[in-house]
Amino acid sequence: MKLYAPSTVNEIRKRYGFHTSKSLGQNFLTDKAIIDQIIEGADIGPEDLVIEIGPGLGVITWEAAQKAKKVIAVEIDKKLLPILAETLADCPNVEILNQDILKTDVNQLIAEERKHGIRQVKILGNLPYYITTPIIMKLLEDGVEAESITVMMQKEVAERIQSSPGKKTYGAISAAVQYYCQPEIVVNVPRDVFIPQPNVDSAVLKLTLRKEKPVEVTDRNLFMACIKAGFGQRRKTLANSLTGIDGVGKELASQVLEACGIDSSRRAETLDLNEFAVIANELKKREV
Ligand code: SAM
Repeated sequence: MKLYAPSTVNEIRKRYGFHTSKSLGQNFLTDKAIIDQIIEGADIGPEDLVIEIGPGLGVITWEAAQKAKKVIAVEIDKKLLPILAETLADCPNVEILNQDILKTDVNQLIAEERKHGIRQVKILGNLPYYITTPIIMKLLEDGVEAESITVMMQKEVAERIQSSPGKKTYGAISAAVQYYCQPEIVVNVPRDVFIPQPNVDSAVLKLTLRKEKPVEVTDRNLFMACIKAGFGQRRKTLANSLTGIDGVGKELASQVLEACGIDSSRRAETLDLNEFAVIANELKKREV
């Protein structure tokens, strides 16, 4: 059975009386070539654990189960459970957890599976678009012990994450994510391969987690606060935008920028990770 075929997706929906929920970001993938690119992008080995976010009808799950030692798929919608029991009946190595990924302790799941001998951990999924950024930032800020995160998202968000200083698309999400990982767009995906069709195009983004951070920061929260404040008022000069950090006034901001050798009339969108780190470390020295 071609689970991903539009006729199968519609047949399953009809037979189970299942109505897709817009508020849960349910747009089901119906293109085998794209599913294959997600699987290939994730580079799954036979000793690997796959954690899938939002299996839906199980189209990506089924393919991942053919390659991995085990797949744990986290799905919030309990109405999908009987469907997944049917579509994944021939995949004994799949476990479905009916819970919210934002409330899931992914590292605890991984620690449990490590006891049974897994090699690497690959996270993947076709993300519910309404929470793309919170999901990615939660995994990264929790220090998820995985090799990579290969996920479908709105194309515009993937482009922002992958952007670099000086580009219009460069923002807080680019700097924050790139501190933890190396992003790479695997494939762009047109909107017409989903049921129901979303209003935006998509892209599969692979985030390879860095073994070592690209810059040294003495206080990660302060580093992230600099990024947030800088882009929070991106049209303002750094001398002004850094005052968005608790305890930083205009005079301190100017002094710190001068000590760092960074022109205070520059804007956050021109700063690379190293410059954000230098500013954060200088603020830390001054006990911010
Ligand atoms: N993987 C399927 C596919 O590609 O056809 C479905 C992808 S659909 C874009 C997103 C899936 O994430 C849906 O099944 C939805 O119910 C689920 N979901 C939404 N919010 C979630 C959450 N907070 N935690 C876990 N799953 C969630």
